[in-house]
Amino acid sequence: MTTSDTATERTLVIVKPDGVARNLVGEVLRRVEAKGYSIVALELRTADTDLLARHYAEHEDKPFFASLVEFMVSGPVVAAIVEGHGVIEGFRSLAGSTKPTSAAPGTIRGDLGREWGSAVVQNIVHGSDSPESAAREIGLWFPAL
Ligand code: UDP
Repeated sequence: MTTSDTATERTLVIVKPDGVARNLVGEVLRRVEAKGYSIVALELRTADTDLLARHYAEHEDKPFFASLVEFMVSGPVVAAIVEGHGVIEGFRSLAGSTKPTSAAPGTIRGDLGREWGSAVVQNIVHGSDSPESAAREIGLWFPAL
């Protein structure tokens, strides 16, 4: 497969509570749409701990797990299903690496994320990291779709 031949796929994007509180929803969605990806579902909601614990189940043994879940239910988030060619990897590229301090300038996390004032890394967005994660996470957040 060549890079111009990536498959159409779907990923789960979440604008986390820090992004919503800082009025960055439009900025994140602007970057998604400017890249050429399509928003096919979009919802503002305050999630509960059960959903977040399942969403981040792979991290349940990590020291930051409880703080992360607490942070993610601390306010509304925007969950979106985003569709496009190679969008799973592509959105991860737009987001940048986990830690905003080392995330590249030009990425959402590099330009906008913060690592101070909270027990968790406030990196504005979540994006699924594989096709398997995308299918699982879309099923959790949008069970009717
Ligand atoms: N996180 C954190 N401290 C850490 C590692 C992760 O607060 O030392 C948070 C951060 O918000 C991150 C999320 O946990 O986005 C999930 O971590 P993961 O390693 O899956 O990073 P991501 O896939 O979001 O880049």
